[in-house]
Amino acid sequence: MAKAEETVLEIDLKALGHNYRFLRSKIKPETKFMAVVKAYAYGSDSVAIATYLQGLGIDYFSVAYVNEGVTLRKGGITTPILVLHPQKVHFKTLIENNLEPSIYSKAILSDFITVAKEMGKTNYPIHLKFNTGLNRLGFSVDELPEISTRINHQKTVQVIALLSHLAATEDANETDFTNLQLERFDAICQKADAMFKTKTIKHVLNTSGIINYAHAQHDMVRSGIGLYGYGNEPHVDDELQPVMTLKTIISQKHTIATGESVGYNRKYKSDHKTVTATLPLGHADGIGREYGHGKTYVLIHDKPAPIIGNVCMDMIMVDVTDIECEEGDEVEIFGKNLSANEFAETANTITYEILTGLSQRIKRVLIN
Ligand SMILES: *Cc1c(COP(=O)(O)O)cnc(C)c1O
Repeated sequence: MAKAEETVLEIDLKALGHNYRFLRSKIKPETKFMAVVKAYAYGSDSVAIATYLQGLGIDYFSVAYVNEGVTLRKGGITTPILVLHPQKVHFKTLIENNLEPSIYSKAILSDFITVAKEMGKTNYPIHLKFNTGLNRLGFSVDELPEISTRINHQKTVQVIALLSHLAATEDANETDFTNLQLERFDAICQKADAMFKTKTIKHVLNTSGIINYAHAQHDMVRSGIGLYGYGNEPHVDDELQPVMTLKTIISQKHTIATGESVGYNRKYKSDHKTVTATLPLGHADGIGREYGHGKTYVLIHDKPAPIIGNVCMDMIMVDVTDIECEEGDEVEIFGKNLSANEFAETANTITYEILTGLSQRIKRVLIN
């Protein structure tokens, strides 16, 4: 690992490979694996992540929006890509880029058929998404007869997959609800199989679903957070390796006399002689204001340095009174030695948010 000379997000491809193999080991060899690479691959680099996983023979990718799929195609990704939440205005682009839409409502189905027909398509692959209790996106089971009639009376699109999304796979207090969702999905699949002419791929499990409900893997699983090294539960985290490490360097040190303050609005006031280090990243990089005021720490020479005062747009100040360090020394914000999970918890949020919120101005560096 090279020493940081500025703020960088290190992306460890070997760790990604390890996590992929670990998650694969939880499912049958014939089950397909969809890597979820939406939101810049959870804040990392979607083309780099997808290229590496494509090299490992991954079956599918998914993104949230059409433009994310276009980025992958431009980056040379030829593996099938599902767009989980496509908007009508981008259907033409979706088709031009050979992306597969998740169709979740009658209106979206009609709009998609119209655009695909105008473009002269036949048997264009679509996934149908069903709501089984998350109450976010998806058809209800009652709509199945109507949509199957609509689909069976045209040749523009064909249903190649059925999916649903689970609300609480990581939550041991919600196993009854998850099992109910899985039963509902099974019932939908049975009904749909009797209605559609084509054989479909069924997929419902996310990362924690793979860990806790592997029996419901169907034909394909969808994993995001696990690939990046986080498992939503400590015993899973232990098996995974963090792919992303956010690092920076000390720009300047200051010695603050008793009674002096640090930062905007003077939110840190010293009651003893304090040594601070100023670091070149702030809320514009994704380190929100919640991380200030001594609640969160970063690592300098493996020692915790609390973030003091208000987080600024482009800088944070940390307390290094008890740490021997110099200007230019490396700082780990989170990653290999300080879990992004623990970092996020100090601000009452989750790993998904801190990772996907990392701004695009941070340099991404691939290692291994
Ligand atoms: C984001 C997302 C996933 C991935 O979930 P993880 O918990 O990151 O594995 C899977 N399916 C759908 C529909 C999603 O939106």
